[in-house]
Amino acid sequence: MTASTPKNNRRVVVVGAGWAGLGATHHLAKQGYDVTLLEAGAYPGGLVAGWKTAGGRSVEAGIHGFWRPYGNIFALIDELAINPFTPFTRSSQYSPSGLEVESPLFQDLPPLPSPLGTFVYTQFKRLPLVDRLSALPLLYTLIDFDNSDAAWRRYDSITARELFKQFGVSARLYRESFEPMLLVGLFAPGEQCSAAAALGMLYYFILAHQSDFDVRWCRGTVGEMIFRPWVEKIEQASGRILPNRRVSDVILAEDDRISGIICGEEVFEADAVIFAVGVTGMKKIVASSRTLQARAEFRDLGNLGAIDVLAVRLWCDRKVQIPLPSNACFGFHPTTGWTFFDLNTLHDEYWNEPGTVVEVDFYHANQLLPLEDEAIIPMVQRDLAACVPEFRDTQVIDHSVIRLPQAVSHFAPGSYRYLLPAATSFKNVFMSGDWIVNRHGSWSQEKAYVTGLEAANKAIDYLGQGSKAKVLPIQSDEPHIQVARMLNRTLRKVGETLLPNFWLP
Ligand SMILES: Cc1cc2nc3c(=O)[nH]c(=O)nc-3n(C[C@H](O)[C@H](O)[C@H](O)COP(=O)(O)OP(=O)(O)OC[C@H]3O[C@@H](n4cnc5c(N)ncnc54)[C@H](O)[C@@H]3O)c2cc1C
Repeated sequence: MTASTPKNNRRVVVVGAGWAGLGATHHLAKQGYDVTLLEAGAYPGGLVAGWKTAGGRSVEAGIHGFWRPYGNIFALIDELAINPFTPFTRSSQYSPSGLEVESPLFQDLPPLPSPLGTFVYTQFKRLPLVDRLSALPLLYTLIDFDNSDAAWRRYDSITARELFKQFGVSARLYRESFEPMLLVGLFAPGEQCSAAAALGMLYYFILAHQSDFDVRWCRGTVGEMIFRPWVEKIEQASGRILPNRRVSDVILAEDDRISGIICGEEVFEADAVIFAVGVTGMKKIVASSRTLQARAEFRDLGNLGAIDVLAVRLWCDRKVQIPLPSNACFGFHPTTGWTFFDLNTLHDEYWNEPGTVVEVDFYHANQLLPLEDEAIIPMVQRDLAACVPEFRDTQVIDHSVIRLPQAVSHFAPGSYRYLLPAATSFKNVFMSGDWIVNRHGSWSQEKAYVTGLEAANKAIDYLGQGSKAKVLPIQSDEPHIQVARMLNRTLRKVGETLLPNFWLP
């Protein structure tokens, strides 16, 4: 809060200190609210938290990229006046046969109408042209899926794999291009992903505009580079961030309002509450709360799931030349995708390290989580050596293995109807996080942050004090996509007038 911000005595309790919870807390603190952020873990950051090992090494729960459309996060970085990012980097894709794809920096190339630039400029090393061309019929779905509620309902009950099959995508294009993107973008193989989520994610990160796939990284852990200065700013604005507080229940007031949050022996009184916990965390709160269990919307969260992730960091005895700093890999494990990152290039603290420091993150790693470190490290080294053979000759001198069970949101087929919107049946309880239904169109960290701001705005609407946060919309569709979507909507309406409710959505 600045000297000019009027203090108000309305109390807001925010639960969960990831992107969503910190976003909501920051904005409400700036508006003079008496805001308390309760976090179950020992430090803020949620899935993006970073910390130091006993030996003083920096580690984090996986490396996080910041794609070009992350406008709201980039605006926050400007507001905080910090400089946490690398330049935009190129990336590549590997299979057990070696290098498959190299992506250029799309923003440096002459702009072509979307999605032509993505198809023309991406350098496929092996995938034949005929396979790439088999994606063409799928373009219709990109027009038809406009992120509306109706579009989600149309596509959510089928799997991404079924969708690609229906539209004639070749087996090889699916295996070598679409499925790897799903494993890295939605953390699950195509037969376990909602087709709606697949279309939304692919459009946002890759297809809407030529340069959307350009990505940058933090020059250290996100915890150190972004969350530490952000938390300082929140505390300067009188926001209270309390770690080691696991919320287990709520206190119901008479008129569909929650008047307090229970956290062990402590009770935090609240005029409004914002939940900013992941799916798994929310299910646990519901499991211990009679009040929440009494509402179908919260009970129904039992139908949602989350996905296991494994984050491994290796310190090697010698330098390995890794051609590009960020790399995605497919075909090594039937239902698991993985990425590896050259931290000597990305993280300031490893520039002068004599050996290579590499981060290897496995998504949908259910079957890997029970393995001991002694089994994981040789597997990781073998996989790395298939991509960059020099890894075969290195000795791993130190390692960190972080197991994240049920960590990331699973956009499973049929899950859309159970995801919660920001407003709930409690007048003063609002939801946020990367799994909440909103119409912004963003994903992952950007979506989590945006939903935090949106939940703060709902609390401001309800409590009636302060200015709302400005949420930057995603860049609008290119004109040819706008025209195609308008025509498609008109034709749909005509069809629905002629044959109402005849087809399955
Ligand atoms: C390995 C990995 C790689 C990823 N890569 C990327 C990437 O490259 N780019 C990208 O944009 N996104 C990426 N993501 C996704 C991104 O991390 C998430 O979308 C985002 O961090 C979600 O933020 P959130 O605030 O919604 O939830 P979370 O970060 O899950 O925060 C929820 C918080 O709630 C707390 N909590 C839970 N239960 C309770 C309780 N009962 N009481 C109090 N607190 C509670 C948790 O401890 C946690 O701190 C990746 C995720 C992983 C795991």
